Amino acid sequence: MSRAGQVQPHGTRTRYALNGCRCTSCRAAHAAYERDRKAGVRLSVPSGTVRAHLEQLLTDGWGLTELAAHVGYDRSTLRHILSGRRQWTASLTAEDILSVPVSEVAA
Ligand SMILES: [Zn+2]
Repeated sequence: MSRAGQVQPHGTRTRYALNGCRCTSCRAAHAAYERDRKAGVRLSVPSGTVRAHLEQLLTDGWGLTELAAHVGYDRSTLRHILSGRRQWTASLTAEDILSVPVSEVAA
């Protein structure tokens, strides 16, 4: 079974890369791939969301030491995120912090 001559459908990166198609949907597929690839290389997220979550947890009654021990990071790591000095947070760290539930108390 030969794959020679087989052409991928439009809107796939394979068609863009192997068949050199530059139609709108193939270029879009390629752009999406590039975006994901770059995001993967960077592997970090903006600290804003993480910082807001941390602040919420502290408001909730978590102590910084207690919270650091809970998520398994150094207190200084959390403090850096809170201070805003750290613009980017490693996505794994962000995931761990965001996984700590915030109690939703309606004001
Ligand atoms: Zn195409």
